[in-house]
Amino acid sequence: MTSDTSLQTLANNPSCMDDYDPNAMHVAKAREYIQQFLNPVSETETLALRDSLGRVLAADIMSPANVPNYDNSAMDGYALKASDLKTQRLKVVGTAFAGKAFDDTVSDGQCVRIMTGAAMPAGTDTVVVQEKTVTDGEFINISEAPKPQANVRYAGEDLKLGQSVLTKGHLMRPADLGLIASLGIAEVQAYRKLKVAFFSTGDELVGVGQPLKTGQVYDSNRYTLFGMLTRLGIEVIDMGAIADNPTLLEETLLSASTQADVVITSGGVSVGEADYMKLLLAKHGQVMFWKVAMKPGRPLAYGKVGNAHYFGLPGNPVAVMVTFYQFVRDALLRLMGQSNPIPLAMFQVQCSQAIKKLSGRTEFQRGILFTDTDGTWRVKPTGAQGSALLSSMSLANCFIVLDDAVGNLDAGAMVQVQVLDGII
Ligand code: AMP
Ligand code: MG
Repeated sequence: MTSDTSLQTLANNPSCMDDYDPNAMHVAKAREYIQQFLNPVSETETLALRDSLGRVLAADIMSPANVPNYDNSAMDGYALKASDLKTQRLKVVGTAFAGKAFDDTVSDGQCVRIMTGAAMPAGTDTVVVQEKTVTDGEFINISEAPKPQANVRYAGEDLKLGQSVLTKGHLMRPADLGLIASLGIAEVQAYRKLKVAFFSTGDELVGVGQPLKTGQVYDSNRYTLFGMLTRLGIEVIDMGAIADNPTLLEETLLSASTQADVVITSGGVSVGEADYMKLLLAKHGQVMFWKVAMKPGRPLAYGKVGNAHYFGLPGNPVAVMVTFYQFVRDALLRLMGQSNPIPLAMFQVQCSQAIKKLSGRTEFQRGILFTDTDGTWRVKPTGAQGSALLSSMSLANCFIVLDDAVGNLDAGAMVQVQVLDGII
């Protein structure tokens, strides 16, 4: 693959690339192709710190001060000079509270009662914790001496003045809100929200709340898409369920592409299918149609319609979710401005049941990670793995990711899993 190959060239003539086979696209290769054509949003806005949760920083944040700002005690105890540690018996000359310092200088043979977070009084450098002392009127006796400089949090220990704290392209999490607050910064520069328009296609689709006739199905894809997009902090534009009617589909596609940064459709992109979507995408966009060597989610379309990025997902409900998590999620995070999105973590665990799997394609089976009777975390498949069985996604807390080379597995085999839920 050469990076200067344009999307137009690939969409018009896929066979121009030696290593490009739209009929047997490997999962990793599809990801690589998608990545090279993404242009992240560039518009920025100033946000109150709390509003930046889940947003991507548009500028580096430097520390305007040392954190902590002054040397302070990490424990409740007595502040003293390290050179007095061998003295064992010291006179208590005052108290230092968090927010209320002891203003005098501490001399040899003296100490100051100190609370956690209180500034270290002048002349002191070490704290002996309360539990290692015995009080005796105005004096304390040290029962167990700490190491010199023990139990002190030094100025700049967390962050140093001028240090880069978070960089442009960072996705803001709860710890980051606290970190930025600890610097006294009230507002941050973030990229604007990404806008994603989506619609379902199919004559058989009916909206929830309406009666269902034979041959019809409720449109569930717009609900899973809504959920996945909203969790990513995206501004969603729901364009509805559109019948397989070329005029309606064309209107909706064009309207979506002018309103949003990204357009996602589900259904009607199967390779070889005589479909209006494919004709419309060829007419109005630069779109590649792939058969990805994976299950579920074989047909996948990717490209641009006007200035909008386009993802054509398969119609089957589980395939929508799998292709979203495997291809679209990472692309959207990049389009939101995130520099290097962390891929969904993948690790190995033992599978407690046998698994049926065809080699030659990557399978994303739905799994349940559970603590077994011996206390070890293991995984088991959710049961039947059909691409239309949304209940399997609902039951699952992970994908069991079985590479191309893997075939049937016996119970007890080690498998790779990707966890679906994290700390929220
Ligand atoms: P398609 O990719 O359009 O051939 O659709 C494949 C399968 O997914 C068919 O059984 C469709 O009825 C089903 N399907 C397509 N779109 C949806 C949707 N939005 N909600 C639920 N099922 C769908
Ligand atoms: Mg269809």
